[in-house]
Amino acid sequence: MIEPQIVETAAMYPMHCAGCTNVYGPFVDFERETHAGRIYLCRKCARTAARLFGFSKGRKLEELSNAAESLESAQALIADLEHQVEILYPIEGAKDAVIKDLEEQIQALESQMNALKGHIAEEAELNLQLARG
Ligand SMILES: [Zn+2]
Repeated sequence: MIEPQIVETAAMYPMHCAGCTNVYGPFVDFERETHAGRIYLCRKCARTAARLFGFSKGRKLEELSNAAESLESAQALIADLEHQVEILYPIEGAKDAVIKDLEEQIQALESQMNALKGHIAEEAELNLQLARG
């Protein structure tokens, strides 16, 4: 079975990264030949690919952190709106409808955050499996 290797130089034609044509190593050598020659990938292109596939935990953590901030500010806004609704809507039915709508918005945000958490856990497991080989 062909296993990709890390090499310091792109020794075989075309002697550069397939992604950006950089000639400075290290590279991942995929040990595969195409009509264009040997397939090498430089560190920068490998990092970009990993980020695009969502393997970089930094990006996922940032997404989760942004979602948590959105949820917090939404909850604060809802608490404030509930207070205003109590003052502005003396009719009990109208107040309840507005509160119900706000509670649904909170639930939607919470399930969005839970989905993100699940996604991050899956990514972490995948990264762990990739790291173990
Ligand atoms: Zn490259």
